[in-house]
Amino acid sequence: MSPEARLMDGSALARTLVEQAARRAADLTERTGTAPCLATVLVGDDPASVTYVRMKRNRCAKAGILSRHVALPAATTTAELVGTITALSNDPEVHGILLQHPAGPHIDERAAFEAIAPEKDVDGVTCHSFAAMSFGLDGFASCTPGGILRLLDHYDVDLAGKHAVVVGRSAILGKPVGMLLLGRDATVTYCHSRTTDLASLTREADVLIAAVGRPRFLGGEHIKPGAVVIDAGSNPGNVGDVDFEAARTRASLITPVPGGVGPMTIATLLTQTVDAAAAQLNAV
Ligand code: NAP
Repeated sequence: MSPEARLMDGSALARTLVEQAARRAADLTERTGTAPCLATVLVGDDPASVTYVRMKRNRCAKAGILSRHVALPAATTTAELVGTITALSNDPEVHGILLQHPAGPHIDERAAFEAIAPEKDVDGVTCHSFAAMSFGLDGFASCTPGGILRLLDHYDVDLAGKHAVVVGRSAILGKPVGMLLLGRDATVTYCHSRTTDLASLTREADVLIAAVGRPRFLGGEHIKPGAVVIDAGSNPGNVGDVDFEAARTRASLITPVPGGVGPMTIATLLTQTVDAAAAQLNAV
């Protein structure tokens, strides 16, 4: 049996990053008289989304970042949502905007995301941010992918020339994390629901990113011995997309769920909100 994988402690790294963001927020507030402000927009009352937004706002408060919450009824139309987000984009007191995903099946979420001004897109969800990420230009990273890269860097995972396999291709997670890995000179393979013989591809991965949304979907048979395994999945019951017990005897490094990718997402959001405020207040 292989030795057990080392854990990648996202909670600890996130704490450090949030402390840094809090120090920078306090310094910015003192120098400019204005505290960074994140607007959170929630459509409807899906319990998981309500919890995520509450968690993000609580973290903001602890870090000295103001948050302005806009709760809209589930029946909100795309036009109304776009109008609300456009108003926040034009409001100089708001430095960052987060639209909680999913906004609801009747909403054109892409249209709503695109109403976020690029300089306030601290969640990294607009086409502008995706293009900047893909071209390696300055801009805000999609938060979960950005958090994953910070975690890989913290654990000194060398990505150049490595084969990274991303299982999942969503706009907020799979696609952008692949782009960030490509930007670090990894050779990237994307897998999705139409991929045939998934295990033969994932077993080639030096770095395996699970972004599927299915509990314990990837087992030991999917993992190359010695691989770095990042489990971005967050399924009911605090279960990831990777069968942790099976994976930890094969991987060299692995993220736990909870305590891996999740806290890094919020830490990246807070860091990018302070970055946005500093740029808008001309106090970089
Ligand atoms: P999503 O939009 O539902 O995308 C899931 C992806 O998985 C799709 O690309 C889908 O392929 C692929 N997939 C589904 N079944 C598959 C199969 N049998 N084989 C291979 N690929 C398959 O989900 P998401 O928003 O990216 O989220 C994925 C997971 O990450 C969820 O558990 C979510 O809760 C979690 N998440 C966590 C955080 C965090 O902060 N920790 C943030 C965001 C998301 P198709 O494109 O072909 O449909």
